[in-house]
Amino acid sequence: MAISEQDIQAIVRNVIQGIQTEGNAIPAQAPKKKLMGIFENIEDAIAAAKKAQKEIQPMPLEFREKIIANIRKKTLENAQILAEMGVEETKMGNVGHKILKHQLVAEKTPGTEDLSTLAWSGDRGLTLVEQGPFGVIGAVTPSTNPSETVICNSIGMLAAGNAVVFAPHPAAKNVSNFAIDMINRASVEAGGPENLAVAVENPTMEVSETIFSHKDINLLVATGGPGVVTKVLSSGKRALGAGAGNPPVLVDETANIPKAAEDIVNGCTFDNNLPCIAEKEVVAVESIADELIFYMKKTGCYYASDEEVARLTDTVFTTKNGKRMLNRACVGRSAKVLLGKIGVDVGNEIRCIIFEGQKEHPMISEELMMPILGIVRVKDVDEGIETALWLEHGNRHSAHMHSTNVNNLTKYGKTLDTAIFVKNGPSYAALGFGGEGYPTFTICSRTGEGLTSAKTFTKSRRCVMCDALCIR
Ligand code: NAD
Repeated sequence: MAISEQDIQAIVRNVIQGIQTEGNAIPAQAPKKKLMGIFENIEDAIAAAKKAQKEIQPMPLEFREKIIANIRKKTLENAQILAEMGVEETKMGNVGHKILKHQLVAEKTPGTEDLSTLAWSGDRGLTLVEQGPFGVIGAVTPSTNPSETVICNSIGMLAAGNAVVFAPHPAAKNVSNFAIDMINRASVEAGGPENLAVAVENPTMEVSETIFSHKDINLLVATGGPGVVTKVLSSGKRALGAGAGNPPVLVDETANIPKAAEDIVNGCTFDNNLPCIAEKEVVAVESIADELIFYMKKTGCYYASDEEVARLTDTVFTTKNGKRMLNRACVGRSAKVLLGKIGVDVGNEIRCIIFEGQKEHPMISEELMMPILGIVRVKDVDEGIETALWLEHGNRHSAHMHSTNVNNLTKYGKTLDTAIFVKNGPSYAALGFGGEGYPTFTICSRTGEGLTSAKTFTKSRRCVMCDALCIR
């Protein structure tokens, strides 16, 4: 039987319709994948997070853990993609180190086990203090550890029963939004709601302002420089501020110098010095300064001449309206790239640039977030402590020391009064990487909570039973 042209067209129409109803439409152009939790409009994003939070709050803690376990699994599976995307988009950092950071977040960020209960029981009954969610949290995240912060914040905030509206750094929006999508997919796959973490396609300052003043946002968390921390602290809402640092590392005459040199260079060069906790300058007691520099050179440091230091200073800073500013094209770049910018060609074995200078030198006193370490010589440990205190600028963020004298270590710790104080190790030991304890990429130095975890994102609730349930 002959088949007419009309019949052929009808069959084709039916086949195409069938494909489309299976969700496999053949578009003229491949559409962009819709990212879960990413909205065009901030109002829609906040409303969706509010709805998701209402769904998650009554669910058992065991269920939150199931979702978190899937977030951990997906983070490990996507660690390389996230690391590559982050470096590609921001042009900062080191892919290998970023993979390690994602693995650390996946494996060691505390979940619901972090929530503890305080109890009193006695003749008049039983009183508990339990930790409950705030509701919907507004979280600003940086360009330096973008997806690491999104994932770490999400695990802690979700463990505490919250949903989160992110305001990612515009220069890291793609990798941040990719991580948000991954979190929602992990939740949905585990049987949980979509939109536990949300953001908009195009984060801007206006979007952040809306989040800061929105009636449905119950807590603000800002991870970034001084500008954004001041902004959230003046919002009128409860806010946690994880601000800037400029961590000094002091080396005294009792330290194991070869080990100190290696630890300092390892800590300083991790992810090209992007972590806010990383060693940013060295204060060395005169009697061991030459030995320290000798070993630092042996462990991959390039010692810059005065003339190279001058050129480097002109390169890593720019001037705007007469004010010295960091040249963002240098932040998070490798030592090799930075030296290349001043016409010095070195091999890949060079990990760090060192030089000697006064504490007031801008490449020493300012937070660079580059593998450049200025070394300030001091006559003794007391002068070293005073110098380090000046260099930390009252951020009370992080300070490190190499010494075997407990009195010196104690005096340094008390004087600097920082959220993090690593002794005899690289700075990243503070994040549970080669040290005890859990990681976070939100260290609330300004507001005093220190290293955040699930319990930081909770409210205390007192629950009282009168004259019963004490069975002693
Ligand atoms: P940044 O301050 O440029 O940006 C951080 C975030 O704040 C971004 O999302 C940005 O869009 C937003 N932002 C900045 N100014 C704002 C304003 N006025 N209003 C609203 N939003 C604003 O910082 P960055 O370059 O992405 O990150 C590096 C800085 O963050 C360094 O100073 C570093 O020490 C600090 N940091 C601190 C921690 C910590 O845990 N304490 C962690 C990571 C980074």
